[in-house]
Amino acid sequence: MTEELIGHGVPDIVHTLSIDIVGLALLMPNTGEQKKRLLPGIARSEGAASILFSEPGVGSDLAALETRAERDGDGWRLRGRKVYGMKSHLADFALCAARTSESDVKYHGITLFVVPLKTPGVVVGPLWNLSDERFGDITPAGVRVTRDDVVGDVDGGWEVINYVLGLERTGVEFEAKAARWCDVLLRHAADTGLLTGVSRGALRLAVGRARERR
Ligand SMILES: Cc1cc2nc3c(=O)[nH]c(=O)nc-3n(C[C@H](O)[C@H](O)[C@H](O)COP(=O)(O)OP(=O)(O)OC[C@H]3O[C@@H](n4cnc5c(N)ncnc54)[C@H](O)[C@@H]3O)c2cc1C
Repeated sequence: MTEELIGHGVPDIVHTLSIDIVGLALLMPNTGEQKKRLLPGIARSEGAASILFSEPGVGSDLAALETRAERDGDGWRLRGRKVYGMKSHLADFALCAARTSESDVKYHGITLFVVPLKTPGVVVGPLWNLSDERFGDITPAGVRVTRDDVVGDVDGGWEVINYVLGLERTGVEFEAKAARWCDVLLRHAADTGLLTGVSRGALRLAVGRARERR
């Protein structure tokens, strides 16, 4: 499905982040209320989602994260900084990992929350990369979340995070995008006469062989 959509030029934000990753995460068994609240909207493309795991200095070693969820009555307030959130400036909400309690085992005490992004309690800034792609530099500045926003168990977010990272790692969308860019480039070259007949043929052959090998 993902390959076909991207092959036809559908921007990958809609299905990769919102549906393939966040949507599938919300299909986990104990997310009944969140399924009802969030899935119909993202399925109809009325709301997009993003992932807020990485922090400045916290990447592969994600359990070292420093974003804190501080108790506030029957909920929490999130404070910290998240970086490299893909398409966060377009998203309505995100899965955000934060520490809810301290533990000698760093994988314990982390909770995954559904966090609204278009709210005064969250500042979404740009983080430009070398291409024209824009990441998000997000500061949860005291945004309030409740038990209804917890995905999985309080303090037991590590299990869900591992599941979500597994969903991310298929890479099928990157391969589909690369194939589409090759096709578009070839068509453009043919339409505009950028390439001579000989070099166009050679390029087509090289792209075809590369795609056969994948
Ligand atoms: C295209 C793209 C999209 C992204 N989208 C998101 C997103 O939507 N949300 C989000 O939260 N994050 C996102 N990220 C961030 C990404 O998940 C992090 O880049 C990743 O976690 C690695 O962290 P880091 O860059 O800090 O590298 P580091 O963790 O500092 O690692 C640097 C290098 O050291 C190696 N290394 C690390 N630890 C060890 C070790 N113990 N032993 C041996 N080698 C080690 C790593 O393999 C790597 O080669 C995205 C990144 C990219 C490139």
